Parts: sequence; structure tokens; C-alpha cells
Amino acid sequence: MQKVAILYDASQAVLSTFDLDEVLRQILNIARDYFHLQKASILLLDKEKNELYPHSQIGWEDQTFDTRIKMGSGIIGAAAQQKRPVYSADISKDPRFTIAASGTRSELAIPLMVRDEIVGVLDCHSEKSGHFDSETTDLLTLFSTQASMALQNAQLHSLERRRAQQLRAINDVARQMTGVLERKELLTKLCPLVQQAFHVSHVSVLLKEDDNLVVRAHHGTLTPVISENHRVPVESGLYGKALLEGKSLIANDFQNAAGGPDLYRETASRMCIPLVSFGQNLGVLVVDSDQPGAFNDEDAQPLESVADICATAIQNANYVERVKQLAYLDGLTGIFNRRYFELRLAEEMERARRFSSSMTIVIIDIDHFKRLNDEFGHLLGDEVLRQVSSIFHQNVRKIDVVCRYGGEEFAILFSQTDPNFAVEIAEKLRRTVESWQFPGVSRPVTISAGVATFPGHGSTRDEVVKAADAGLYAAKQAGRNRVILTASPEAKPATTVAAV
Ligand code: GH3
Ligand code: MG
Ligand code: MG
Repeated sequence: MQKVAILYDASQAVLSTFDLDEVLRQILNIARDYFHLQKASILLLDKEKNELYPHSQIGWEDQTFDTRIKMGSGIIGAAAQQKRPVYSADISKDPRFTIAASGTRSELAIPLMVRDEIVGVLDCHSEKSGHFDSETTDLLTLFSTQASMALQNAQLHSLERRRAQQLRAINDVARQMTGVLERKELLTKLCPLVQQAFHVSHVSVLLKEDDNLVVRAHHGTLTPVISENHRVPVESGLYGKALLEGKSLIANDFQNAAGGPDLYRETASRMCIPLVSFGQNLGVLVVDSDQPGAFNDEDAQPLESVADICATAIQNANYVERVKQLAYLDGLTGIFNRRYFELRLAEEMERARRFSSSMTIVIIDIDHFKRLNDEFGHLLGDEVLRQVSSIFHQNVRKIDVVCRYGGEEFAILFSQTDPNFAVEIAEKLRRTVESWQFPGVSRPVTISAGVATFPGHGSTRDEVVKAADAGLYAAKQAGRNRVILTASPEAKPATTVAAV
């Protein structure tokens, strides 16, 4: 009768809930109440380490039991290894009894098995020696079969739930990523999204740029030990290895790994997933946890799906960036075009207005270029245009904007600069071009330039450009190969504003 009652209660426990903790708690309650146990624990198997770790316990309130037990070690380890109950009628005489449990006189460890596989151990303690007779042992063994099933069901269910959560997370990322075409916005959005969806401590995106991996975005709760846009050689670290090998890599014992923290102070485990789009290695998605042993191979798959979505989104954003750039680049020389010059001129004028500063433009035209084309051919003419562009580019500051304004005309924008400085630079450019040996061109090439400033020469874009053009026209009139700063309008009679 007792047998039936126990098995009935056990099966009820199996069916009552899918919550693993709740199932285990109920199993322990039944075991304690029906078998008059003083202490009972359920230990689960850590397959990777081949160890048993205490998961739920009852009656242990007065002391802690958190020791991990090796397969084969002690009474519990023996039960798991031999796949059969191991009983110690009097633990004071049993050398296998290794854990400190106050009041325990006898112990019975019963393996929890699913099919032929160990999933854990039910460990029962009694304060009476010889408490577990063969009938009790048989009944507990029968009971533990139900417990194993409950355990298995709950584990399957939690796996299922985790899968569903991960699937939702992947969907979430996909939905929010598509449609973001601006690279910076994309990267900023991506990290918090992955961090929340996958419940990890920190997420970083490292992008491959030349021979480096650059931390382009990161988000999370860990303390960075790096500065913004931190870069490392492409072959370094776990991320470099993941990129090189083209597969996800996990480090579950990061704190003890050689070298100490490289990105964040508290990283205890890390997973690196390569970002690959159409066979192109774009970088690495780095996921960190402050807990050791946080990742397993099963986590890799959903994160790989997310990485694929990210890689495609990054690639798209790169394309958009490139197309945008192309719209502002001159095809022949590779420098900015007139459209970009006009855009930047408006911006720089606005900035100068706001800060009550000035800015200067120089318009440059190659002298007698038509003749040069006629004499040496169009192809050499093209090469001269390219080399002149390159001379300009190399002789101005990084913040100055060199553009091909059209044909053999160039425009340079000097922000936050007074005209005298710009004249000096233009003079230097003129001298450099004059003395340059252009291959295949047997005589010197010269340039003329006009310089005008905002707000000195005009208050609109057109007025300033017109003023610089006037300086250029004056330079041509005066015999070419020279730089002329347009005179201030107020210094000239009203009718000749556009002249020198
Ligand atoms: P000036 O000293 O008065 O500026 O005389 P110029 O011959 O340089 O001026 P003009 O405006 O008469 O001629 C400009 C020439 O530039 C005409 C055109 O064939 C040439 N040109 C414009 N764009 C290109 C180009 O992309 N490649 C080549 N090779 N030549 C070009
Ligand atoms: Mg011209
Ligand atoms: Mg010309």
C-alpha cells in the first residue's frame, strides 16, 4: 500500500510542473516524508567535467553541502560510476564516507538514470544506523526511476524553453537590424540588442581593418580596460584565432588564462564568433560573461545565426557608405568632387558664422592645359591631372578639403583659416607644380590660383566662389603661374566688385 502511495505521489510530482527546481524540490519532499530521512540531496552530472554537483537539497539547513564529487569517489561517486545503489549502514565505519554531515549515521546513494545514462544521484541520509533495509532500498530505487523521468522531462522542457527564447532573440535582432543602413547606428544598436537577448554581460563588435581588429562598438556591464576604437593585430587573442579559423571559439576559464584581461576587467568566459558575409571576413562578435563556464557548444548555434545577420547588415552598411562616398568622389583623380566641395563649403561657412571665425577657399586652374593635351595627348593630360591632385593632397593639412572642381580646375577649402595662410599654401603648391617633373611632359606645368575668404569676400556661397574666380581670372590676366588674393570688395569701386 505504501508502495502504491509513494509511486502515485512521485508520478504526480512528475506531471505537476516542468520547472526543474520545483520538480526536484517535490521529489526530495516525498523522499524525506515517506522514508523518514534526515537529509536528502539531488546531485546532477556535469558531463564535461565528469563530476556531480549538488543541485537541490533538503535537511541540510544547518550546514552547507556544495562539494563537487568526482565520478567513483565516495559513496555518491561510487553509485554514479557503478550505476547501482550504494549503501553504507554505518558511516562511522565506512572509509568511503567523505562529506561532513552532522547527525548522519547511514547513507544510501541511488543513481538517477535515463535509459542507460547517469543524469545524477539521489543521496539519502538517516540519523539511524542500518536505516535502509532491502525493502526500503528497493522502494527508493523504484521511486528514483520516477524521479529520473521527472528530471529528464524538466531538463528537456527547460532546453526547449531556452531554444524558444533564443529563437525569439534571433528574430528580434534580425527585425531590428534590417533597415538600419548607417554603419555607426547599426553597431550602436547591435551590442545592447545581443546583450539583452542572450543575457550575457558584455557584447563587442571587432571589425577587421587592414591588419587590425578594431573595437568599433561595445555594450554591457563589464569595466573596459581599453580606450575607444582600441585596435589589436588581427592574429592576436581568441578573437583573432576565431577570425583566422573561421569558426566560433569558447574560453570558459578566461580569468585564469595567460595575459590577464584584454578588453574588460571582469571577463570570466568568452565566446568569439566570426562575422562572415559572402565569404568575406568582416570581423568578430565577442560575447563576454562575468561567470566562468558560461558558454557551451549549444549556445554557439543561435549566436552564430545572430552573427550571420549582423555580418550581412554590416556588409550592407559598408556598401551604402561606399556608394555615398562614390557620389562625392571624382572618378579620375580619386579626390572629392564639386558636389562635395559645395556641401562642405556650406557647412564650413555656417561653422565660421557660428564661431565668428573665417574660412578661405582657393580655386586653382592649370595653365594652358588645352595645349598640353594637344601636345602630349589626352592620356598624359589625365596623368597630369592625377599627379597635380596628389601634389595638392599631400601639401595641405588633413582637415583641408581638396576637390576637383571640374575639367582642369581644383578648389581647396581651408576651414578656420585666414586668407594669408591660404595664400602661403597656394604659393607652395604653385612652386611644387612648377618644378615637378611630369613623366612624358618635357616642359614645366604651371597653375594659377585665386584666393577668397568668408566673410571678407561675400556672405553667400556663390559670392565667395565668384570672388575666388575673380582672383583666378586676375592671375591669368597677369600672365599665369601666380596666386592672387582677391581684394576686399570695400576696397574696390562698386562696379568692379568681381574684379581684382
Ligand atoms: P588657361 O590657361 O586659360 O586655363 O587655358 P586652358 O587651355 O587650360 O583652358 P581651357 O579652358 O581653354 O581648356 C581646358 C582644357 O582642359 C580643355 C579640355 O580638353 C581639358 N580637359 C578638361 N577635362 C579634362 C580631362 O579630364 N582630361 C584631360 N586630359 N583633359 C581635360
Ligand atoms: Mg579651366
Ligand atoms: Mg586652364
